[in-house]
Amino acid sequence: DNANLFSALRAAFPADLDACAIECADGEHLRYSWRDLERGTAMMANLLDSLDLPPASRIAVQTEKSVEALMLYLAVLRAGHVYLPLNTAYQAAELEYFIGNAEPAVVVCAGRHFGWVSKLAFLAGTQRVFTLNEDRTGTLLDRASQMSDVHTPVARQAGDLAAILYTSGTTGRSKGAMLSHGNLLSNARVLQQAWGWRTGDVLIHALPIFHVHGLFVASHGALLNGSKMIWFSRFEPRAVIQRLPEATVFMGVPTLYVRLLAEASLTREACAHMRLFISGSAPLLIETFRDWQQRTGHTILERYGMSETIMLTSNPWEGGERVGGTVGPALPGVGLRIVDDAGRPCAPGEIGHIQVRGPNVFAGYWRMPEKTAEEFSADGWFKTGDVGQQDAAGYVRIVGRSKDLIITGGYNVYPAEVEGFLNELPGVLESAVVGVPHPDFGEGVIAIVVPRPGRPPEPQALIDALKARIANFKVPKAVFVQSELPRNAMGKVQKNLLRAQHQALFS
Ligand code: ATP
Ligand code: MG
Repeated sequence: DNANLFSALRAAFPADLDACAIECADGEHLRYSWRDLERGTAMMANLLDSLDLPPASRIAVQTEKSVEALMLYLAVLRAGHVYLPLNTAYQAAELEYFIGNAEPAVVVCAGRHFGWVSKLAFLAGTQRVFTLNEDRTGTLLDRASQMSDVHTPVARQAGDLAAILYTSGTTGRSKGAMLSHGNLLSNARVLQQAWGWRTGDVLIHALPIFHVHGLFVASHGALLNGSKMIWFSRFEPRAVIQRLPEATVFMGVPTLYVRLLAEASLTREACAHMRLFISGSAPLLIETFRDWQQRTGHTILERYGMSETIMLTSNPWEGGERVGGTVGPALPGVGLRIVDDAGRPCAPGEIGHIQVRGPNVFAGYWRMPEKTAEEFSADGWFKTGDVGQQDAAGYVRIVGRSKDLIITGGYNVYPAEVEGFLNELPGVLESAVVGVPHPDFGEGVIAIVVPRPGRPPEPQALIDALKARIANFKVPKAVFVQSELPRNAMGKVQKNLLRAQHQALFS
C-alpha cells in the first residue's frame, strides 16, 4: 500500500478530469484542468526520475508563486523526493545558508537569479539547477515537456520524508522542519473534516506557497477535496473581493483581513456566497475579528499551527462558538497540554508553555539533532515555544512566545496582554510590547505603537492611561510611536528587530 501523499491527493481528483482545477485570477487568466495537473506533474516527475537521483533527494525551490510551482511540489512528492520551498524574499546570504544546510540535489530558481544561485548550488554539491519563471518559461518546463505524461507514483511509507519546511525565522535563524508524508496527509484529512469541506467548495488561494499556510493548509485542503481554486499569484484586495461571489472558502493571515477591510467593496452582499473565512499564522486582533463580523456577517475562524506541526488547534466550523482572541481547542488526534517552567500541568486558565504531540508532529529539525532533542520533553511532547492558557472547554488562548516573554524585576509580563490594553486606547491602531535590557529590572517593558490616521497619541498619555488599568510593572516605561511595525512575509511582527533597535535605551 502506497502512503505517498501524492497518491492520496490524486485519488481525490474528481471523475471529470476536464473540469477546472485551478483558475488564475491574474496574469493571462489561465485555467488548468485536473488532467493538466495529472499530466504536468507526471512530466515533471519523469524529468526528476531521468536525473537518476538517490531516493529522497532534496529539491530546493525558490520561484515566484505559479501553478507550475505548485505542480513541481506535487511532482517532487510523486517522484518520492523531498520538497524544500524557499521564501522568495531571501537574498544571496540567506540562500547560501539554506542551500549549504540542505545540500539539495536539484535547485529550481527564477531565470534572472540563475547566475548567482547556480554558483551557490554547485558549491554545495547540487547536481542540476533549473529555471522556472512566472511566464512559464525556463529550463524546467522545456525539459519536462519532452517527457512522458504517464508516471506511477513512487512508493513511500507514512514515515518517509516529504518536505523540509524552514520556519519563518521570527525568533532567530530558521530551522528546517522535517515533515513526512504521514504528517501532511493525516493533518490534511483532519482539517477536511474539521472545516466541513464539501462538494462544490471553491477556495480563493491568495497566499504564498513557500510556507505551511499556503502550501499545505490551503492547497491540500482544496486538492484533497477535489475543489477548484481561484489562484492569485499576488494578494490583491479588490480583485479578491470581486471573486468572492464565486468562492466558498478563503484563507488569510491577519494582515490580509485588515487590507480587505480597508476596501469599501467588502460588503455583506459580496460575501453572501462564502461559507468560511479562516485566519492564522499570526494573532488576529479582536478588533479585526469584530469589524469583520459587522461588515460581512461572517465570523472568522482562527486556527493555530506551525511549520513543525502543521495545524494544532482550530475554532469550530460548526457545533460550537468561534471565540475571538482564541485559537480554539486542539484538533482531533492532537494532544495539547499547558505546563509550567518545571513541566507540571497547569490548571485551566493558568498561563504556561504549550506542548503538543500527535501524528502531525514533525520528526525533527534537519541536521540539528541537539536542537531537536532540546525541543522535545522527556515524555515525547514537542515544545512549541508558544505560551498560552486553556479554558475548561479546551479553548486555547496564545499570549505570546516564550522568547518574547518579559521578566522585569522578577515579574512575568505577557506582551499580548499589555498590547491588548494599549490597542483599546484612543489613537492606537496596533502595538508591540517588548523587553529590553534594564540595569535595575533585568528587562524593561517598552511599547512601539502605530497610530490611527489623524492626530498621533501622546506617549505619556498612553502610559498614564495604562497605569489606571494594569499593574505598574506591566506598564511600558517608554512608548515609541512609529508608522508601522516590522513584519516578515507572513505578517508576523519581528520583535527581535524592535528589541535590537531599542537595545541601549536604558543603558
Ligand atoms: P521561527 O520558529 O523561525 O522563529 P515562526 O515560529 O514564526 O519562526 P512558523 O512556523 O511559520 O515560524 O510560525 C509558527 C508560529 O506562528 C507559532 O509558533 C505561533 O507563534 C505563530 N502563530 C501561528 N498561528 C497563530 C495564531 N492564530 N495566533 C497567534 N500566533 C500564531
Ligand atoms: Mg517557530
